[in-house]
Amino acid sequence: MDIVLFGIQGSGKGTIARAVSEKFGFHYFETGAELRKLSQENSPLGHKVKEIIEAGKLVPNDIVMEIIEHFMETVPANESAIFDGIPRKQFQAETFDALMKKLGRSYIGILVHVPEDIALKRLTLRRICESCKAVYPADYDRSSCEKCSGELVTRSDDNPESIKTRFAAYFEETMPVIEGYKARNMLLTIDGIPRIPEVRDATFRLIEEKLLK
Ligand SMILES: [Zn+2]
Repeated sequence: MDIVLFGIQGSGKGTIARAVSEKFGFHYFETGAELRKLSQENSPLGHKVKEIIEAGKLVPNDIVMEIIEHFMETVPANESAIFDGIPRKQFQAETFDALMKKLGRSYIGILVHVPEDIALKRLTLRRICESCKAVYPADYDRSSCEKCSGELVTRSDDNPESIKTRFAAYFEETMPVIEGYKARNMLLTIDGIPRIPEVRDATFRLIEEKLLK
């Protein structure tokens, strides 16, 4: 069973997806990372991706689907993948469904649910290391980076206005996708309000109980 992980920015979704991938050996898919990896590859798809990135264009959905199909070739039938941040929009979800059906994969959505006000607070209070770009949550109480001792600063696009713009895209575009999973009984929900390690462990338990039995 593959997993599509949903969550608003600030939900900790990315951290949790990588933790799930490490703990259970799920193959991790995140579009940005996959694009960067592919653009280094000497293959027809790699060249195509490199060209699009270098032209500064958005990668069209049909190429994204081609990338997912290429990625799934590396996932044996008895192993699982976890998708972080995709599908993001309704039309993309439809093409994703069609692709997964074609590949004979079964999958479920997991939503890391964090109310908008809490996510907003977390994002405005998080800090980033100026040197190594490590991200620190609101409750990290030291003034320098624990990895490189660099200075911690607030990201300029982590102001409430630009965060709310990013949130609006989530509610307008991704929420209908999540509702669609729910309507098809393909959605499990995790309470994302506690601290990330707790949410991560709750996600592990949910996967063990519902998906690995
Ligand atoms: Zn650092």
